[in-house]
Amino acid sequence: MTLAVTLVQDLTAAGFVALGLAIAYRWYRERGRAQGKLALGLIALGVVAALGRLPSSLLLSVIVIVGFMLSGFFVLLFRNEFIPLGRTAYRAAYALLGFAILVGVFDAVALQHASPLVTSAAAFVLISTWAIFTGEPIVRFWLSSNVLPAVQKARMRFLSLGFAVLIAILFVDVLGGGALQSPAALIVTQLLALAVVPLIYVSFAPPPLLRRIWRMSEENELRSAMQDLLIFSPDRQDLADRAVFWAVRLLGATSGFIADSNGKVIASVGIDADRAAKLISNHAEASAQVVQAPLHMAEGEGSLAVVGGRFTPLFGSDEISQLRAYANSVSAGLERARVTERLAAIEEHKTQFLNLASHELRGPVTVIRGYVSMLEGGLLGNLNERGRTAAGVMAAKVSEMNELIEEMIEAARLEEGGLTLRTVEADLRDIAQSAASTVAPLIEPQHRMVMDLPERRVRVNVDPDRTRTIIANLLSNAIKYSPAGGEIICQVRARAGVARVAVTDQGLGIAREDLPTLFTRFGRVITPQTEHLKGTGLGLFLGRQLARMQGGDITVASVEGKGSTFTLQLPVALVAESASAGLLETPMSDGELRTDERPSATRARR
Ligand code: ADP
Repeated sequence: MTLAVTLVQDLTAAGFVALGLAIAYRWYRERGRAQGKLALGLIALGVVAALGRLPSSLLLSVIVIVGFMLSGFFVLLFRNEFIPLGRTAYRAAYALLGFAILVGVFDAVALQHASPLVTSAAAFVLISTWAIFTGEPIVRFWLSSNVLPAVQKARMRFLSLGFAVLIAILFVDVLGGGALQSPAALIVTQLLALAVVPLIYVSFAPPPLLRRIWRMSEENELRSAMQDLLIFSPDRQDLADRAVFWAVRLLGATSGFIADSNGKVIASVGIDADRAAKLISNHAEASAQVVQAPLHMAEGEGSLAVVGGRFTPLFGSDEISQLRAYANSVSAGLERARVTERLAAIEEHKTQFLNLASHELRGPVTVIRGYVSMLEGGLLGNLNERGRTAAGVMAAKVSEMNELIEEMIEAARLEEGGLTLRTVEADLRDIAQSAASTVAPLIEPQHRMVMDLPERRVRVNVDPDRTRTIIANLLSNAIKYSPAGGEIICQVRARAGVARVAVTDQGLGIAREDLPTLFTRFGRVITPQTEHLKGTGLGLFLGRQLARMQGGDITVASVEGKGSTFTLQLPVALVAESASAGLLETPMSDGELRTDERPSATRARR
């Protein structure tokens, strides 16, 4: 049994020596100032463990006592790197260190033959001092680890846990007295102490696999935040602000900032822009505290930087490469936001121009219209034959211009949100008829217009004027884009709560790849067959927007070279409760009009 005890004791000592060596090696390679203090503490612990296994001598005892006290004191100095001790506390710590070493050495040198009680008291002083040096920092680390990112939190906690176990073992050892000197108890405490070795090593230099496992909990949150950041950030400034916030969180830093290619700070969190700019210009200071990752932006290379705080002792290579990868995504996001902003600005200018131009044109055109109609009506004197023809052409052109201006004003109004609908209950058949009469003058002899209307009312709650404009535009397009003529059918139906006006022509049709263009603002499909046809590309855009504002839509089905069907859909008006049964104009219910019914068709032909 004693052999087993010796073996476990040797093993534990070897464990601490290995820990000291491993940490000395890592520290030699990385040389962080703060880590240095912790490394010295752990190396001292390793030395104490090794010397403790040698045959005892007075000198050895003194070295062990000094080494042990220093191992604790270095942990306090490590803490001092992050949370500086007050001057008094600092002096008291030194005094305590001196006092404890004196007591220990005095006990070893002069009180060798004193009673066990005196020796225990001296040991108690040493262990209590060590417990104060290490205990205060680990409690602080544990408490402050809550606000740190997952990896640093785990590291702090492993370190705290490791030292807490050591403190507990030391106290139990001294206070437990004879009861704990049994071989079994010794083996247990030694094994416990041995278990501390990996805990502390991992806190000092966590292997990548562990880092990854610790980070897992954060990863999902980070992923959705990234998505949010890159896709939904409305503008560059907002994206830059959020990106810095996440970079700070990612590295557990205290502050961070983004600087553009000229070194101008465009976003910062936890640090004011002046201080951030100073950090960039003062490289020496910056390199000690700041980790930077390049941001590749269109205007040049900027940087995303985070500044370490008192609890960000170690920017591991892992965090740094993570920051780099993150910075690449942020660069892409910033670029996306820049393009979006530019597009929005162009759109904004277009709307402003549309608004300005249409309003400025409206006045003069109204005056011209007035004079042209006076000319036509002979109010400005009699015109000869050629004059009358010219006045007719002028009147037609001015009215075309007027329509164009009205469309532009409507589009501008729509975009500025100033468009209000005057909704009333109406019969869609009437609106369709009225639209057809509006376009009647456009029908060429080669066209045949067919109105296919149901016998019963098709009640809709709409703005009748605007709905008429939508249908008139569909009909005039059908005429315009079937230059060779053919039948143009305007069919009105209602089914399953949806009222439809379908305008079908046998004209040019539209290629499948061009369909998405139709409903965009100024969207026109220019082909050799259509390039000579006049148009603004506003009609369908306005039509769809107006239909949607009224709870409906416009859809299209088309075959190039064969013709197209544009369908306006609107919700059927809900049945009014007061409507009494038996009335001739009973409100239509769903399915009342089936498409297989063949209602009477009115044909208009010119
Ligand atoms: P405009 O007719 O003034 O150009 P619209 O917004 O009404 O503007 O139509 C957009 C484009 O859709 C038209 O330029 C045309 O290319 C295409 N288009 C619309 N209606 C038809 C149709 N019935 N047949 C073929 N092409 C059509």
